[in-house]
Amino acid sequence: MATRRLYYDDCYQREFGAQVLTCEPEAHAATPAWTVVLDCTALYPTSGGQPHDLGKLGDANVLDVRDDDDDIVHVVDRELPLGSVRGCVDWARRFDHMQQHTGQHLLSAMFQERFGRPTVSFHLGSDLCTIDLRGPQPTDEILEGAERAANHVISEDRPIMVRYGTAEEFAQLGVRKEVQRSGILRAIEIEGADLQPCGGTHVKSAAQIGIILVRRCTKMRQDWRVEFVCGLRAARLARNDFQLLYRAAEELKCAPEDLPASSQRAVSERDSHFKTVRTLLQRLAEEDAAVVLQSAKTDANGIRVVARVFGEESQPEYVNSLATQLAKAEKTVALLARYGCGHLIFAQHPAAGKDMNALLKQVLAQFAGKGGGTRDFARGKLTDASQADAAVSLAARLLSAG
Ligand SMILES: [Zn+2]
Repeated sequence: MATRRLYYDDCYQREFGAQVLTCEPEAHAATPAWTVVLDCTALYPTSGGQPHDLGKLGDANVLDVRDDDDDIVHVVDRELPLGSVRGCVDWARRFDHMQQHTGQHLLSAMFQERFGRPTVSFHLGSDLCTIDLRGPQPTDEILEGAERAANHVISEDRPIMVRYGTAEEFAQLGVRKEVQRSGILRAIEIEGADLQPCGGTHVKSAAQIGIILVRRCTKMRQDWRVEFVCGLRAARLARNDFQLLYRAAEELKCAPEDLPASSQRAVSERDSHFKTVRTLLQRLAEEDAAVVLQSAKTDANGIRVVARVFGEESQPEYVNSLATQLAKAEKTVALLARYGCGHLIFAQHPAAGKDMNALLKQVLAQFAGKGGGTRDFARGKLTDASQADAAVSLAARLLSAG
């Protein structure tokens, strides 16, 4: 016997009486659960892009509701005795789903009728809803135009009715979607705006959708995914958007409406400062290299080795430039590292005649890390940055031994 779906006739029914026909332990459940089949239910199962309801059956909490051919299967958190039971629907969740779902019918109808963009799929998420539109990329004018037209229908509070008929009858009335199923079908009509076969739950008049807010549109394989929200979700999201704008404006010390210009200015200032700092660091590295070279000692083979470990406050660009500058001096080897990040830079003047890449590999064989480079310039990173000092000391010892 098929479960009678009470929401087909009245999706505003929040409480109902039913008979428990079967109650069995759910296999493979993470926590103990039972599957319950009733003779009738007002709880909506996951289907057609709309998530399942939550609610109660007796004392049991409903965890999931599934469509299983003609039956509806309720997953509950405790065992129920066979026989009579009272059920109730988590109304806040259901009404939100009804707002989003009905809003989708209306928005899809506007995209189709006004702009020739058919909807190929719908998803109702916990935060955002989406429809996928077929065809070329919708412009801002199309996105705004569909939103405005849909909100106009909402402001007229047009009635929304459930209709029954055959696929043929609906086709004559101009139903867009092709229907394969035979027999009597259920369709939802938004007066003068849309007629769609659908087994979901919907509000009874357009004003109950509240408002439709269209958001981003992104490419999704061959289609265009349009994000939207309806009703109280739209109000929550708009408030959240305002708070984000307000906070960003406070940070940039400007009015929210000046944000685009202010943020653009801040980014170009940052870019120009970055260039200045890079130039200054390079000049500083040149000056410091000259000072360091004056005091560096030369070994028996006439090679100068400069081994230094820099603190976390030093800039990577500076250490890099310093290595390059030192290696410009005749027969000089630079063994540099940075605490904090654990970067190693080994560089030499070609006439020093060592192999920086081989030296780095030898050091990394003793300390965990990775890196590589050429004979004259090699770069690595220690897994444990606190070993920077020990790694540079080892490199200096290996160099003098070799
Ligand atoms: Zn529907």
